[in-house]
Amino acid sequence: MSEPLIDLRSDTVTRPSAAMLEAMLRAPVGDDVYEEDPTVRELEETAAARFGLEAGLFCPSGTMTNQIAIKAHTEPLSEVICEQTAHVYLWEVGGIAFHSGASVALLPGDRGRVTAAQVEAAIRPANNVHYPTSNLICLENTSNRGGGSCYSLETIASIAEVAQRRGLALHLDGARVFNALVATGQDAAEYGKYFDSISVCLSKGLGAPVGSVLLGSKAFVHKCRRIRKVMGGGMRQAGILAAAGLYALQHNVARLADDHRRAQQLGAVLAAQPYVAEVLPIETNLAIFRLQDDMPADTFLAALEQQGIRASSFGPQMIRFVTHLDVDDPMVERVTQALQALSVGAPGATTPSGSLSAY
Ligand SMILES: *Cc1c(COP(=O)(O)O)cnc(C)c1O
Repeated sequence: MSEPLIDLRSDTVTRPSAAMLEAMLRAPVGDDVYEEDPTVRELEETAAARFGLEAGLFCPSGTMTNQIAIKAHTEPLSEVICEQTAHVYLWEVGGIAFHSGASVALLPGDRGRVTAAQVEAAIRPANNVHYPTSNLICLENTSNRGGGSCYSLETIASIAEVAQRRGLALHLDGARVFNALVATGQDAAEYGKYFDSISVCLSKGLGAPVGSVLLGSKAFVHKCRRIRKVMGGGMRQAGILAAAGLYALQHNVARLADDHRRAQQLGAVLAAQPYVAEVLPIETNLAIFRLQDDMPADTFLAALEQQGIRASSFGPQMIRFVTHLDVDDPMVERVTQALQALSVGAPGATTPSGSLSAY
């Protein structure tokens, strides 16, 4: 097939643009383990300033930034409170147990989001020898498993109030935090008031090839730098990679609104197909939907693959479409046609959409 592949599996699949590669080529570099790479420093300072925090640490992946933060905030016999589908718990290879020797309290959320009351109820009573010590809350914004759902600033503030009053740290897994900021119009600088640490992925919607930054206070980042080293994440002339991240922060944030619009368009098309049982509410760049039982997920994915379209399976009969930098309007049109073609001959009823309570 001569038309380009349309890859809706993830926003991690983007390729660096010519302009981003040019920025990487021109980046001044040094040895970052000696803290002598000017481009890495600029990225760390720029990202920290944007979120109203003091310092940053550039790492190879979001898994590493999250796991370093958890390690820095906890000790063995601690407990981390998070939503039951949180990436830090579900998709980081059990790293909380492996790296930190900590327990996890899992909360059932609303599309990945928890409330202050839920968090408070999960905090263990102090001075009881049976319990681990609750000392970290992790939020995810947007929530991946929740279909790109966003937290309101009011909820974040109320959870931060609980964290402060009860003496727990608050970490944000902000792999897609820029999607949340663009979708809600929230100000990144406000986040620093609420979170002790924030992990931001540069390699998702922002379109950089590699990297995440971990943000927090100077003392926190100093501690994290040693943990990054022991995990083997100390990089040398990493400015080449940081330059892509800086370029992304400058050029690829506002355009996330286009990804959100395209996800909405695809969601509307999906909701009108008889073989789609349910589409989760779409707030950002993720569209998660459930197929009717008579349309096996494998059959659906194979039919799309034949049209040069890739998507991922996300649980039984569940599929996820992700829009990103490398999905344009003509591609959305091609996907639309492929989805409609699959309906030909099927009964034309439209099923109502709604949220799913279980995955
Ligand atoms: C992708 C992702 C991460 C980090 O992923 P890496 O592939 O390790 O960079 C963390 N949290 C969420 C919610 C994610 O979607």
